[in-house]
Amino acid sequence: MTDTTFAPPIEYAYLITGVLFIVGLRLLGSPKTARLGNRIAAAGMLISLVAVLLTSGFVSWPILIIGLVCGAIVGIAGAQNVKMTAMPQMVAIFNGAGGGAAAMVAAAEFLTHLDAQSITPDVSITILLSAVVGAMSFTGSILAYLKLQELMTGRPIVYAGQQIVNALLALIMVGASVFAVYTCATDPTNTTPAIVAFFGAMAAAAALGVLVVLPIGGADMPVIISLLNSFTGLAAATTGFVLSNNVLIISGALVGASGTLLTLMMGKAMNRSVTNVLFGAFGAVATSGASSGASGASSGTVREASVDDVATMLAYANQVVIVPGYGMAVAQAQHSVRELADQLESRGVTVKYAIHPVAGRMPGHMNVLLAEANVPYPSLFDMEDINPDFPRTDVALVIGANDVTNPAARYDTASPIYGMPILDVDKAERVVVLKRSMKPGFAGIDNALYEDPRCVMLFGDAKKSVDALTAGVKRV
Ligand code: NDP
Repeated sequence: MTDTTFAPPIEYAYLITGVLFIVGLRLLGSPKTARLGNRIAAAGMLISLVAVLLTSGFVSWPILIIGLVCGAIVGIAGAQNVKMTAMPQMVAIFNGAGGGAAAMVAAAEFLTHLDAQSITPDVSITILLSAVVGAMSFTGSILAYLKLQELMTGRPIVYAGQQIVNALLALIMVGASVFAVYTCATDPTNTTPAIVAFFGAMAAAAALGVLVVLPIGGADMPVIISLLNSFTGLAAATTGFVLSNNVLIISGALVGASGTLLTLMMGKAMNRSVTNVLFGAFGAVATSGASSGASGASSGTVREASVDDVATMLAYANQVVIVPGYGMAVAQAQHSVRELADQLESRGVTVKYAIHPVAGRMPGHMNVLLAEANVPYPSLFDMEDINPDFPRTDVALVIGANDVTNPAARYDTASPIYGMPILDVDKAERVVVLKRSMKPGFAGIDNALYEDPRCVMLFGDAKKSVDALTAGVKRV
Protein backbone atom coordinates (compact mmCIF):
# COMPACT_ATOMS: atom_id res chain seq x y z
CA MET A 1 0.00 0.00 0.00
CA THR A 2 1.23 3.47 -0.78
CA ASP A 3 2.12 5.57 2.22
CA THR A 4 0.00 8.69 1.99
CA THR A 5 1.45 10.34 5.11
CA PHE A 6 2.80 13.81 4.44
CA ALA A 7 5.51 15.45 6.48
CA PRO A 8 4.27 18.28 8.73
CA PRO A 9 4.53 21.77 7.13
CA ILE A 10 7.50 22.72 9.29
CA GLU A 11 9.58 20.02 7.60
CA TYR A 12 8.99 21.75 4.24
CA ALA A 13 10.14 25.03 5.78
CA TYR A 14 13.28 23.21 6.99
CA LEU A 15 13.80 21.72 3.55
CA ILE A 16 13.57 25.16 1.92
CA THR A 17 15.99 26.52 4.54
CA GLY A 18 18.45 23.69 3.84
CA VAL A 19 18.32 24.40 0.10
CA LEU A 20 18.76 28.16 0.68
CA PHE A 21 21.76 27.51 2.96
CA ILE A 22 23.40 25.34 0.32
CA VAL A 23 22.72 27.84 -2.49
CA GLY A 24 23.96 30.67 -0.22
CA LEU A 25 27.17 28.81 0.58
CA ARG A 26 27.72 28.11 -3.10
CA LEU A 27 27.33 31.80 -3.96
CA LEU A 28 29.69 32.81 -1.14
CA GLY A 29 32.44 31.10 -3.15
CA SER A 30 32.88 34.09 -5.47
CA PRO A 31 33.31 37.78 -4.56
CA LYS A 32 30.87 38.61 -7.35
CA THR A 33 28.00 36.64 -5.80
CA ALA A 34 28.98 36.65 -2.12
CA ARG A 35 26.59 39.42 -1.05
CA LEU A 36 23.64 37.68 -2.70
CA GLY A 37 24.73 34.38 -1.12
CA ASN A 38 24.76 35.98 2.30
CA ARG A 39 21.24 37.36 1.81
CA ILE A 40 19.89 34.05 0.53
CA ALA A 41 21.31 32.19 3.54
CA ALA A 42 19.90 34.85 5.89
CA ALA A 43 16.47 34.45 4.24
CA GLY A 44 16.76 30.70 4.89
CA MET A 45 17.51 31.40 8.54
CA LEU A 46 14.48 33.71 8.79
CA ILE A 47 12.17 31.09 7.26
CA SER A 48 13.09 28.42 9.77
CA LEU A 49 13.03 30.88 12.67
CA VAL A 50 9.47 31.95 11.79
CA ALA A 51 8.44 28.31 11.20
CA VAL A 52 9.76 27.26 14.62
CA LEU A 53 8.06 30.15 16.38
CA LEU A 54 4.71 29.48 14.72
CA THR A 55 4.69 25.75 15.39
CA SER A 56 6.32 25.27 18.78
CA GLY A 57 4.00 25.49 21.72
CA PHE A 58 6.62 26.07 24.41
CA VAL A 59 7.44 29.67 23.53
CA SER A 60 7.03 32.45 26.07
CA TRP A 61 6.49 35.38 23.70
CA PRO A 62 7.60 38.26 25.98
CA ILE A 63 10.89 36.50 26.84
CA LEU A 64 11.38 35.58 23.23
CA ILE A 65 10.81 39.12 21.97
CA ILE A 66 13.21 40.54 24.59
CA GLY A 67 15.79 37.97 23.49
CA LEU A 68 15.25 38.72 19.80
CA VAL A 69 15.53 42.48 20.29
CA CYS A 70 18.69 42.17 22.44
CA GLY A 71 20.26 39.75 19.95
CA ALA A 72 19.38 41.96 16.99
CA ILE A 73 20.82 45.08 18.67
CA VAL A 74 24.09 43.30 19.51
CA GLY A 75 24.29 41.73 16.03
CA ILE A 76 23.57 44.92 14.08
CA ALA A 77 25.81 47.12 16.24
CA GLY A 78 28.61 44.55 16.11
CA ALA A 79 28.42 44.06 12.35
CA GLN A 80 28.25 47.79 11.62
CA ASN A 81 31.06 48.86 13.90
CA VAL A 82 33.54 46.02 13.48
CA LYS A 83 36.74 46.94 11.64
CA MET A 84 37.77 44.58 8.87
CA THR A 85 40.97 43.75 10.78
CA ALA A 86 38.82 42.77 13.80
CA MET A 87 36.62 40.37 11.83
CA PRO A 88 38.36 37.18 13.10
CA GLN A 89 37.58 38.02 16.74
CA MET A 90 33.98 38.84 15.85
CA VAL A 91 33.63 35.44 14.18
CA ALA A 92 35.25 33.91 17.30
CA ILE A 93 32.77 35.46 19.70
CA PHE A 94 29.75 34.55 17.54
CA ASN A 95 31.12 31.05 17.14
CA GLY A 96 31.58 30.79 20.91
CA ALA A 97 27.94 31.82 21.38
CA GLY A 98 26.88 28.99 19.01
CA GLY A 99 28.95 26.41 20.90
CA GLY A 100 27.69 27.67 24.27
CA ALA A 101 24.08 27.51 23.07
CA ALA A 102 24.53 23.92 21.86
CA ALA A 103 26.05 22.94 25.23
CA MET A 104 23.23 24.57 27.20
CA VAL A 105 20.50 22.97 25.09
CA ALA A 106 22.22 19.61 25.58
CA ALA A 107 22.40 20.12 29.36
CA ALA A 108 18.70 21.07 29.50
CA GLU A 109 17.75 18.02 27.43
CA PHE A 110 19.85 15.76 29.63
CA LEU A 111 18.12 16.94 32.79
CA THR A 112 14.66 16.67 31.19
CA HIS A 113 15.28 13.13 29.94
CA LEU A 114 16.78 12.17 33.28
CA ASP A 115 13.70 13.45 35.12
CA ALA A 116 11.47 11.37 32.86
CA GLN A 117 13.83 8.39 33.34
CA SER A 118 13.66 7.89 29.61
CA ILE A 119 17.28 8.22 28.63
CA THR A 120 18.51 5.44 26.36
CA PRO A 121 22.23 5.13 25.43
CA ASP A 122 21.72 6.48 21.89
CA VAL A 123 20.10 9.62 23.32
CA SER A 124 22.62 10.09 26.16
CA ILE A 125 25.60 9.60 23.81
CA THR A 126 24.25 12.20 21.39
CA ILE A 127 23.50 14.65 24.20
CA LEU A 128 26.97 14.21 25.70
CA LEU A 129 28.64 14.71 22.34
CA SER A 130 26.75 17.93 21.84
CA ALA A 131 27.53 19.09 25.41
CA VAL A 132 31.29 18.43 25.38
CA VAL A 133 31.95 19.66 21.84
CA GLY A 134 29.82 22.76 22.46
CA ALA A 135 31.56 23.50 25.80
CA MET A 136 35.01 23.09 24.23
CA SER A 137 34.10 25.31 21.31
CA PHE A 138 32.64 27.93 23.68
CA THR A 139 35.68 28.35 25.92
CA GLY A 140 38.18 27.94 23.06
CA SER A 141 36.43 30.65 21.05
CA ILE A 142 36.27 33.02 24.03
CA LEU A 143 40.02 32.61 24.59
CA ALA A 144 40.65 33.14 20.86
CA TYR A 145 38.60 36.35 21.11
CA LEU A 146 40.58 37.57 24.15
CA LYS A 147 43.88 36.93 22.38
CA LEU A 148 42.86 38.57 19.12
CA GLN A 149 41.30 41.57 20.88
CA GLU A 150 44.62 41.88 22.76
CA LEU A 151 42.80 41.66 26.10
CA MET A 152 45.55 39.15 26.95
CA THR A 153 48.84 38.29 25.33
CA GLY A 154 48.54 37.05 21.77
CA ARG A 155 51.79 35.06 22.06
CA PRO A 156 51.63 31.29 22.48
CA ILE A 157 51.59 30.31 26.17
CA VAL A 158 53.58 27.14 26.69
CA TYR A 159 54.63 25.29 29.84
CA ALA A 160 56.31 22.02 30.74
CA GLY A 161 54.03 19.00 30.58
CA GLN A 162 51.34 20.88 28.61
CA GLN A 163 50.51 17.92 26.36
CA ILE A 164 50.30 15.58 29.37
CA VAL A 165 47.85 17.90 31.17
CA ASN A 166 45.74 18.11 27.98
CA ALA A 167 45.81 14.33 27.53
CA LEU A 168 44.74 13.83 31.18
CA LEU A 169 41.85 16.26 30.78
CA ALA A 170 40.76 14.53 27.58
CA LEU A 171 40.83 11.23 29.47
CA ILE A 172 38.69 12.66 32.31
CA MET A 173 36.24 14.05 29.74
CA VAL A 174 35.85 10.72 27.95
CA GLY A 175 35.78 8.71 31.21
CA ALA A 176 33.09 10.92 32.77
CA SER A 177 31.02 10.78 29.56
CA VAL A 178 31.18 6.98 29.44
CA PHE A 179 30.24 6.80 33.13
CA ALA A 180 27.26 9.13 32.60
CA VAL A 181 25.97 7.03 29.70
CA TYR A 182 26.50 3.82 31.69
CA THR A 183 24.68 5.00 34.86
CA CYS A 184 21.78 6.40 32.83
CA ALA A 185 21.36 3.01 31.15
CA THR A 186 21.83 0.79 34.20
CA ASP A 187 20.34 2.81 37.06
CA PRO A 188 17.96 5.47 35.66
CA THR A 189 16.35 6.14 39.07
CA ASN A 190 19.63 7.14 40.72
CA THR A 191 20.23 10.45 38.93
CA THR A 192 22.94 12.08 41.09
CA PRO A 193 25.99 10.16 39.76
CA ALA A 194 24.81 10.72 36.18
CA ILE A 195 24.42 14.47 36.75
CA VAL A 196 27.84 14.74 38.44
CA ALA A 197 29.49 12.80 35.61
CA PHE A 198 27.68 14.82 32.95
CA PHE A 199 28.73 18.20 34.33
CA GLY A 200 32.20 16.82 35.12
CA ALA A 201 32.61 15.90 31.46
CA MET A 202 31.39 19.35 30.42
CA ALA A 203 33.79 21.09 32.82
CA ALA A 204 36.72 19.00 31.54
CA ALA A 205 35.76 19.87 27.96
CA ALA A 206 35.52 23.58 28.83
CA ALA A 207 38.97 23.48 30.45
CA LEU A 208 40.35 21.60 27.46
CA GLY A 209 39.01 24.30 25.11
CA VAL A 210 41.07 26.89 27.02
CA LEU A 211 44.20 24.78 27.30
CA VAL A 212 44.24 23.75 23.63
CA VAL A 213 44.02 27.38 22.47
CA LEU A 214 46.59 28.74 25.01
CA PRO A 215 49.70 27.62 23.06
CA ILE A 216 48.41 29.01 19.78
CA GLY A 217 49.85 32.31 18.54
CA GLY A 218 47.48 35.23 17.93
CA ALA A 219 47.98 35.20 14.18
CA ASP A 220 47.35 31.44 13.90
CA MET A 221 44.01 32.12 15.50
CA PRO A 222 41.97 32.39 12.27
CA VAL A 223 42.88 28.78 11.52
CA ILE A 224 41.87 27.69 15.00
CA ILE A 225 38.66 29.74 14.84
CA SER A 226 37.79 27.96 11.64
CA LEU A 227 38.47 24.61 13.36
CA LEU A 228 36.37 25.61 16.39
CA ASN A 229 33.69 26.71 13.95
CA SER A 230 33.58 23.20 12.52
CA PHE A 231 33.29 21.86 16.11
CA THR A 232 30.35 24.17 16.73
CA GLY A 233 28.75 22.83 13.54
CA LEU A 234 29.22 19.31 14.85
CA ALA A 235 27.72 20.29 18.23
CA ALA A 236 24.73 21.91 16.47
CA ALA A 237 24.20 18.84 14.28
CA THR A 238 24.24 16.50 17.28
CA THR A 239 21.87 18.86 19.10
CA GLY A 240 19.66 18.48 16.02
CA PHE A 241 19.60 14.71 16.59
CA VAL A 242 18.81 15.26 20.28
CA LEU A 243 15.89 17.55 19.44
CA SER A 244 14.87 15.60 16.29
CA ASN A 245 15.29 18.87 14.43
CA ASN A 246 16.21 18.41 10.77
CA VAL A 247 17.23 21.99 10.07
CA LEU A 248 19.74 21.90 12.93
CA ILE A 249 21.17 18.67 11.55
CA ILE A 250 21.46 20.17 8.05
CA SER A 251 22.93 23.51 9.11
CA GLY A 252 25.24 21.92 11.68
CA ALA A 253 26.55 19.52 9.05
CA LEU A 254 27.09 22.40 6.61
CA VAL A 255 28.97 24.47 9.21
CA GLY A 256 30.98 21.43 10.27
CA ALA A 257 31.94 20.52 6.71
CA SER A 258 32.68 24.06 5.53
CA GLY A 259 34.68 24.83 8.69
CA THR A 260 36.76 21.68 8.22
CA LEU A 261 37.38 22.43 4.53
CA LEU A 262 38.34 26.04 5.30
CA THR A 263 40.74 24.88 8.03
CA LEU A 264 42.41 22.45 5.64
CA MET A 265 42.59 25.03 2.83
CA MET A 266 44.17 27.64 5.10
CA GLY A 267 46.66 25.05 6.36
CA LYS A 268 47.53 24.12 2.78
CA ALA A 269 48.01 27.74 1.72
CA MET A 270 50.37 28.27 4.69
CA ASN A 271 52.01 24.87 4.16
CA ARG A 272 51.14 23.95 7.76
CA SER A 273 49.32 20.89 8.97
CA VAL A 274 46.48 21.35 11.46
CA THR A 275 48.61 19.42 13.99
CA ASN A 276 51.41 21.93 13.46
CA VAL A 277 49.00 24.83 14.05
CA LEU A 278 47.62 23.10 17.17
CA PHE A 279 50.89 21.95 18.70
CA GLY A 280 53.57 23.97 16.88
CA ALA A 281 53.33 27.07 19.17
CA PHE A 282 54.19 29.16 16.09
CA GLY A 283 55.72 32.47 17.16
CA ALA A 284 56.60 31.30 20.69
CA VAL A 285 60.32 31.51 19.96
CA ALA A 286 62.43 33.40 17.45
CA THR A 287 62.12 31.23 14.39
CA SER A 288 64.19 32.92 11.73
CA GLY A 289 67.56 31.88 10.53
CA ALA A 290 68.16 35.44 9.34
CA SER A 291 66.60 37.03 12.38
CA SER A 292 66.00 40.72 12.86
CA GLY A 293 67.76 42.85 15.39
CA ALA A 294 66.03 44.53 18.31
CA SER A 295 64.91 47.35 16.07
CA GLY A 296 63.63 44.89 13.58
CA ALA A 297 66.31 46.03 11.16
CA SER A 298 67.68 43.57 8.61
CA SER A 299 71.44 43.13 8.30
CA GLY A 300 71.50 43.06 4.45
CA THR A 301 71.56 45.93 1.94
CA VAL A 302 68.22 47.36 0.96
CA ARG A 303 67.52 50.23 -1.47
CA GLU A 304 65.17 53.01 -0.51
CA ALA A 305 63.28 54.92 -3.21
CA SER A 306 61.55 58.29 -3.16
CA VAL A 307 57.88 58.84 -4.02
CA ASP A 308 58.88 60.55 -7.27
CA ASP A 309 61.15 57.63 -8.32
CA VAL A 310 58.34 55.14 -7.79
CA ALA A 311 55.66 57.36 -9.36
CA THR A 312 57.77 57.67 -12.52
CA MET A 313 58.38 53.92 -12.59
CA LEU A 314 54.64 53.26 -12.32
CA ALA A 315 53.56 55.94 -14.78
CA TYR A 316 55.78 54.56 -17.58
CA ALA A 317 55.00 50.89 -16.96
CA ASN A 318 52.97 48.72 -19.33
CA GLN A 319 51.76 46.41 -16.59
CA VAL A 320 51.65 46.90 -12.82
CA VAL A 321 50.63 44.09 -10.48
CA ILE A 322 49.43 45.25 -7.06
CA VAL A 323 50.12 42.78 -4.24
CA PRO A 324 48.06 43.69 -1.17
CA GLY A 325 48.71 42.24 2.29
CA TYR A 326 47.92 42.69 5.95
CA GLY A 327 49.50 46.17 5.99
CA MET A 328 46.94 47.43 3.47
CA ALA A 329 44.21 46.31 5.88
CA VAL A 330 45.92 47.98 8.86
CA ALA A 331 46.37 51.24 6.94
CA GLN A 332 42.84 51.00 5.43
CA ALA A 333 44.51 51.91 2.15
CA GLN A 334 42.11 50.04 -0.18
CA HIS A 335 40.30 53.17 -1.44
CA SER A 336 43.60 54.95 -2.05
CA VAL A 337 44.87 51.87 -3.90
CA ARG A 338 41.83 51.96 -6.15
CA GLU A 339 42.47 55.67 -6.90
CA LEU A 340 46.09 54.96 -7.79
CA ALA A 341 45.00 52.10 -10.08
CA ASP A 342 42.41 54.38 -11.76
CA GLN A 343 45.09 57.02 -12.29
CA LEU A 344 47.46 54.48 -13.84
CA GLU A 345 44.75 52.97 -16.04
CA SER A 346 43.83 56.41 -17.32
CA ARG A 347 47.42 56.56 -18.62
CA GLY A 348 47.04 53.21 -20.38
CA VAL A 349 48.84 51.09 -17.77
CA THR A 350 47.37 47.61 -17.26
CA VAL A 351 46.72 47.09 -13.54
CA LYS A 352 46.11 43.68 -11.97
CA TYR A 353 45.79 42.59 -8.36
CA ALA A 354 47.52 39.44 -7.08
CA ILE A 355 45.59 37.75 -4.28
CA HIS A 356 47.40 35.24 -2.07
CA PRO A 357 44.97 32.87 -0.30
CA VAL A 358 46.34 33.76 3.17
CA ALA A 359 47.25 37.40 2.63
CA GLY A 360 45.96 39.38 5.60
CA ARG A 361 44.60 37.62 8.65
CA MET A 362 41.55 35.74 7.39
CA PRO A 363 40.52 33.96 4.22
CA GLY A 364 39.23 36.37 1.60
CA HIS A 365 40.53 39.37 3.61
CA MET A 366 41.97 41.13 0.55
CA ASN A 367 38.96 40.31 -1.65
CA VAL A 368 36.60 41.86 0.88
CA LEU A 369 38.69 45.03 1.27
CA LEU A 370 39.10 45.51 -2.47
CA ALA A 371 35.42 44.82 -3.09
CA GLU A 372 34.64 47.52 -0.51
CA ALA A 373 36.70 49.92 -2.64
CA ASN A 374 34.81 48.78 -5.78
CA VAL A 375 37.86 47.29 -7.45
CA PRO A 376 36.44 45.41 -10.47
CA TYR A 377 36.40 41.63 -9.86
CA PRO A 378 38.03 40.74 -13.20
CA SER A 379 41.15 42.67 -12.07
CA LEU A 380 41.61 40.26 -9.11
CA PHE A 381 43.79 37.24 -9.86
CA ASP A 382 44.40 34.19 -7.68
CA MET A 383 47.99 33.17 -7.01
CA GLU A 384 48.05 30.32 -9.56
CA ASP A 385 46.69 32.62 -12.27
CA ILE A 386 48.91 35.64 -11.66
CA ASN A 387 52.24 33.90 -10.99
CA PRO A 388 52.92 33.14 -14.69
CA ASP A 389 52.29 36.85 -15.36
CA PHE A 390 55.08 38.25 -13.15
CA PRO A 391 57.89 37.77 -15.72
CA ARG A 392 55.82 40.00 -18.07
CA THR A 393 55.20 42.61 -15.35
CA ASP A 394 57.10 45.90 -15.23
CA VAL A 395 56.38 46.72 -11.59
CA ALA A 396 55.11 44.51 -8.77
CA LEU A 397 53.77 46.97 -6.19
CA VAL A 398 53.71 45.21 -2.82
CA ILE A 399 51.43 47.07 -0.40
CA GLY A 400 51.81 45.89 3.20
CA ALA A 401 52.41 42.27 2.18
CA ASN A 402 55.45 40.47 3.49
CA ASP A 403 55.41 36.69 4.14
CA VAL A 404 53.34 35.94 1.04
CA THR A 405 56.15 37.37 -1.11
CA ASN A 406 59.14 35.88 0.72
CA PRO A 407 61.25 33.84 -1.77
CA ALA A 408 62.87 31.97 1.16
CA ALA A 409 59.70 29.84 1.12
CA ARG A 410 61.05 28.31 -2.11
CA TYR A 411 64.61 27.42 -1.11
CA ASP A 412 65.34 27.86 2.63
CA THR A 413 64.52 24.52 4.21
CA ALA A 414 65.20 26.02 7.67
CA SER A 415 62.62 28.76 7.20
CA PRO A 416 59.32 28.36 9.08
CA ILE A 417 57.51 29.23 5.87
CA TYR A 418 59.49 26.79 3.71
CA GLY A 419 57.15 25.17 1.20
CA MET A 420 54.42 27.80 1.51
CA PRO A 421 53.32 28.77 -2.01
CA ILE A 422 54.17 32.45 -2.57
CA LEU A 423 53.51 35.19 -5.10
CA ASP A 424 56.48 35.29 -7.50
CA VAL A 425 56.95 39.08 -7.29
CA ASP A 426 60.73 38.67 -7.56
CA LYS A 427 60.22 37.57 -11.16
CA ALA A 428 58.89 40.99 -12.15
CA GLU A 429 61.16 43.59 -13.80
CA ARG A 430 61.04 45.82 -10.67
CA VAL A 431 59.55 45.33 -7.22
CA VAL A 432 58.43 48.20 -4.97
CA VAL A 433 57.57 47.39 -1.36
CA LEU A 434 55.42 49.76 0.70
CA LYS A 435 55.77 49.24 4.46
CA ARG A 436 56.71 51.28 7.48
CA SER A 437 59.97 49.65 8.54
CA MET A 438 62.12 46.56 8.10
CA LYS A 439 60.11 44.74 10.74
CA PRO A 440 58.94 41.25 9.81
CA GLY A 441 55.35 40.14 9.23
CA PHE A 442 53.34 37.41 10.93
CA ALA A 443 55.97 34.65 10.54
CA GLY A 444 58.54 36.81 12.35
CA ILE A 445 61.24 36.39 9.71
CA ASP A 446 63.21 38.68 7.43
CA ASN A 447 62.23 38.80 3.80
CA ALA A 448 65.03 37.93 1.35
CA LEU A 449 63.14 39.86 -1.33
CA TYR A 450 64.17 43.21 0.18
CA GLU A 451 67.82 42.54 -0.61
CA ASP A 452 67.11 41.67 -4.25
CA PRO A 453 68.76 44.30 -6.53
CA ARG A 454 65.46 44.68 -8.41
CA CYS A 455 63.60 45.61 -5.23
CA VAL A 456 63.21 49.07 -3.71
CA MET A 457 61.49 50.07 -0.48
CA LEU A 458 59.14 53.01 0.01
CA PHE A 459 58.83 53.41 3.77
CA GLY A 460 55.74 54.83 5.44
CA ASP A 461 52.13 54.09 6.23
CA ALA A 462 50.61 52.37 3.19
CA LYS A 463 47.73 54.83 2.83
CA LYS A 464 49.95 57.90 2.99
CA SER A 465 52.45 56.35 0.56
CA VAL A 466 49.76 55.34 -1.94
CA ASP A 467 48.14 58.80 -1.79
CA ALA A 468 51.54 60.38 -2.38
CA LEU A 469 52.12 58.03 -5.33
CA THR A 470 48.78 58.97 -6.90
CA ALA A 471 49.71 62.66 -6.62
CA GLY A 472 53.17 61.81 -8.00
CA VAL A 473 51.76 59.93 -11.01
CA LYS A 474 49.53 62.93 -11.77
CA ARG A 475 52.65 65.14 -11.83
CA VAL A 476 54.56 62.89 -14.28
P1 NDP B 1 52.50 39.87 6.89
O1 NDP B 1 51.97 39.72 8.27
O2 NDP B 1 53.53 38.92 6.45
O3 NDP B 1 53.13 41.33 6.71
C1 NDP B 1 52.38 42.46 6.84
C2 NDP B 1 53.30 43.65 6.71
O4 NDP B 1 52.50 44.81 6.71
C3 NDP B 1 54.26 43.79 7.88
O5 NDP B 1 55.56 43.40 7.51
C4 NDP B 1 54.18 45.27 8.26
O6 NDP B 1 55.48 45.87 8.16
C5 NDP B 1 53.28 45.87 7.19
N1 NDP B 1 52.37 46.87 7.73
C6 NDP B 1 51.64 46.83 8.87
N2 NDP B 1 50.96 47.96 9.04
C7 NDP B 1 51.25 48.74 7.97
C8 NDP B 1 50.86 50.04 7.56
N3 NDP B 1 50.01 50.79 8.29
N4 NDP B 1 51.35 50.52 6.41
C9 NDP B 1 52.22 49.80 5.67
N5 NDP B 1 52.63 48.57 6.01
C10 NDP B 1 52.15 48.05 7.15
O7 NDP B 1 51.24 39.91 5.94
P2 NDP B 1 50.91 39.09 4.61
O8 NDP B 1 49.56 39.55 4.22
O9 NDP B 1 52.03 39.19 3.63
O10 NDP B 1 50.86 37.58 5.07
C11 NDP B 1 49.85 37.10 5.93
C12 NDP B 1 50.48 36.24 7.00
O11 NDP B 1 49.47 35.92 7.94
C13 NDP B 1 51.03 34.95 6.44
O12 NDP B 1 52.19 34.57 7.14
C14 NDP B 1 49.90 33.97 6.72
O13 NDP B 1 50.37 32.65 6.84
C15 NDP B 1 49.38 34.51 8.05
N6 NDP B 1 47.99 34.12 8.31
C16 NDP B 1 47.03 34.41 7.39
C17 NDP B 1 45.73 33.98 7.58
C18 NDP B 1 44.67 34.24 6.57
O14 NDP B 1 43.67 33.53 6.57
N7 NDP B 1 44.82 35.22 5.72
C19 NDP B 1 45.36 33.24 8.79
C20 NDP B 1 46.44 33.07 9.72
C21 NDP B 1 47.70 33.49 9.46
P3 NDP B 1 55.81 47.20 8.99
O15 NDP B 1 55.49 46.92 10.41
O16 NDP B 1 57.26 47.44 8.71
O17 NDP B 1 54.98 48.29 8.42
